[in-house]
Amino acid sequence: MGMRIWCPNVALYGTSPPTYSMATSSIQPRLTRHPDGITAVDAEYVRPGLAAAHIIQQDGRAAFVDTGTNDSVPHLLAALDMLSIPRDAVDYVFLTHVHLDHAGGAGLLLQSLPNAKAVIHPRGAPHLIDPGKLIAASIVVYGEAQFRKLYGDLVPIPSEHVITVKDGQRFKLAGRELELIHTPGHALHHYAIIDLAARNIFTGDTFGLSYRELDTDQGAFILPTTTPTQFDPEQLIASIDRLVSYSPRAAYLMHYSRVTDIPRLAEALKDQIRVVVDIAKRHANDADPSAGIEADMRADWVERLRGHGIVLSDDQFDEVLGKDLELNRQGLVAWLQRLHRTQV
Ligand SMILES: [Zn+2]
Repeated sequence: MGMRIWCPNVALYGTSPPTYSMATSSIQPRLTRHPDGITAVDAEYVRPGLAAAHIIQQDGRAAFVDTGTNDSVPHLLAALDMLSIPRDAVDYVFLTHVHLDHAGGAGLLLQSLPNAKAVIHPRGAPHLIDPGKLIAASIVVYGEAQFRKLYGDLVPIPSEHVITVKDGQRFKLAGRELELIHTPGHALHHYAIIDLAARNIFTGDTFGLSYRELDTDQGAFILPTTTPTQFDPEQLIASIDRLVSYSPRAAYLMHYSRVTDIPRLAEALKDQIRVVVDIAKRHANDADPSAGIEADMRADWVERLRGHGIVLSDDQFDEVLGKDLELNRQGLVAWLQRLHRTQV
């Protein structure tokens, strides 16, 4: 099989169904229709094809899984219009975890959804009801200017609109059973949704990220997300195993939407988690662990991409994966620091 040169303009959404747009509004949401009444809405976060909120439709009712940021909200509302879903037909806004690319727009979105409850892990809920600490922590990761540009002013979610979940709790969307399971490893406040009858899973960031530009005839290319500040390799591997135990037919990732061939992808994720842990430990005593970790992880990704049939120029690599490399490196350094603190 020949190597494929990735080109962002040509290959975007390479193997996905075509995107269509709404002619009657200035907002043109990019929707991808999937089986089982599931639609991916591009959250227009940073670049197209990076982050998808999902809508689940069942017999006239609907739910969102993750929302993107405040800037995503007009796209989500336009998507409802395109799908002919009245705003009062949305019962739930499931927030897999409270990282801002997933939940930053939830407060603003809920203002337009009179019957919707935000469903949040109990560790995450206080941060969306009163976002002060979350804003401060995010500014540490992103810097103030970048934070304001990406996330704007977070709208608090009134506590009476919040449901906190227990592990294994089930919700019914017009009778469709959705089981929520705690999936720590990427974040402690993370849950995943098991769409029991259709055997879909909505994995937030627990099942990594997989950009459609990197699809080849070998299928999807996947990477774990070891983002700050709660990456825990053992928890993450256990969460992946737990997701796989449901024998899902498809996983819906925030970054970016639907993947199948779950057993292969799960093994790829677990292998990479072990590899990056080794990389991090190898550089733990460097004067600056960041540089060595990033270089080794980049080399590992380049090699895996090559094995997947993709050769990227440095610029192409930076455009599609540079930010993830940086965030994953930050998360590994934070994990090393935590490990060190608990050992001394
Ligand atoms: Zn996350």
